[in-house]
Amino acid sequence: MTSLRTIASQPIVAAECPLVSHRLALLAIVSASLISLAAAIVPGSAQVASPPHQVLIRAARLIDGTGATPLEPATVLIEGDRIIAVGSDLTPPPAATILDLEGATLLPGLIDCHTHLTMELGQFGGEYESLATRSIIDSAIVAHRHAKATLDAGFTTVRDVGAGGYVDVALRDAIDRGAVAGPRMLVATLGVGATGGHFDESHLSPFLEFRGFSGIADGEDAIRKLIRTEIKQGADLIKLAATAGVLSNEDSVGAPQYTLAEMKAAVDEAHMWGRKVAAHAHGADGIRRAIEAGVDSIEHASLLDDEGIALAKLRGTTLVPTLYVGAWILASAGNAIPAKQRAKANEVATQARDAVRRARAAGVKLAFGTDAGVFPHGLNAREFKLLVDSGLTPMEAIQNATSRAADLLGWSDRVGRVAPGRFADLVATSGDPLADITALERIAWVMKGGEVVRGAGER
Ligand SMILES: [Zn+2]
Repeated sequence: MTSLRTIASQPIVAAECPLVSHRLALLAIVSASLISLAAAIVPGSAQVASPPHQVLIRAARLIDGTGATPLEPATVLIEGDRIIAVGSDLTPPPAATILDLEGATLLPGLIDCHTHLTMELGQFGGEYESLATRSIIDSAIVAHRHAKATLDAGFTTVRDVGAGGYVDVALRDAIDRGAVAGPRMLVATLGVGATGGHFDESHLSPFLEFRGFSGIADGEDAIRKLIRTEIKQGADLIKLAATAGVLSNEDSVGAPQYTLAEMKAAVDEAHMWGRKVAAHAHGADGIRRAIEAGVDSIEHASLLDDEGIALAKLRGTTLVPTLYVGAWILASAGNAIPAKQRAKANEVATQARDAVRRARAAGVKLAFGTDAGVFPHGLNAREFKLLVDSGLTPMEAIQNATSRAADLLGWSDRVGRVAPGRFADLVATSGDPLADITALERIAWVMKGGEVVRGAGER
């Protein structure tokens, strides 16, 4: 499995630091490099003896993620963890394993740009019971199950947008080194938000204090310092609360919570370090302010107005609507969510679908997201039907969860398309999602990095 954080870059950092602990880290890294070097030159070792394994996949149909007309029938040749050729009827190389998926439709591994793999609402009882009796350690113990459920549902990549205690960093790294099964992850670590805002624990006793849940910072300097700390601890992107939210305790669902100057500072700092910014925003004012500040994506975008649509179009900002989460809260959350929060969910649900319809008609960039973690992990694909009900064609909905999502992540060269050079992340369903988008809720076969993790050919 290819790690995105290469060992080679680390000794340079370590060598500049006089601390003993860093020198030890440097020694450990050098030793690891020597071991792998030795393995490469010892005759008969795994690296030398076996050529990269090739697999030829056959399927009735391929939707490659780009929006191109499906290929029927389809063959995809894989070597190691990468796709090396795509065609209608490729000749299998002599030693290749053939995997025949018969009548299935093959697609790129799906991408969810808005998950919380370390959380699952209601898992530890109601909100206050959970706050009083559980900690981030409880979440850390079970997070790998959420990752596996997500992968089994066909989501081979996620952008995880907010987690307490840096559990997301540990989960991402455990998946990358093969210790647990799960999707490729980009992680945001602590959500960056204002005192009393969406990420703060508000309306509790002033004598209660919760540490490590979220990143609360006010003012440009404090925000910059928090962002630097998160990047130091492993953040791949920065999540910012531009407005109030549904599940937090504020009365408003969409009032702005950061000034334009604060958000500009956040974007400037994150971009300086090569990190994108995802802004949680429901209300129209906060959405416009966040776009103006230069954020890369607006999450939820529920109460988006026409001015916001025009601004998003002008600035090339991507919207990540999350429609299913609202429907789930209203239908299934029961007592896990207090009445005040359910009322806020109701307020945004209908308007959010209309916002998607208008944004799509105006040609604003959209990418697929769900807020999984508020609802049970593995149900992510239920978002597709709501997108189609809101005016997207099935092909556009698929592009949102493949190539367009990869573009937002900055990973177009790795995932989101079935094309040579990309990771062999593929999924299959027995239905035709272009005729019935809910076929994506029934993914029966999943390959990640050339390894079948679910269905025929699973090792
Ligand atoms: Zn979220």
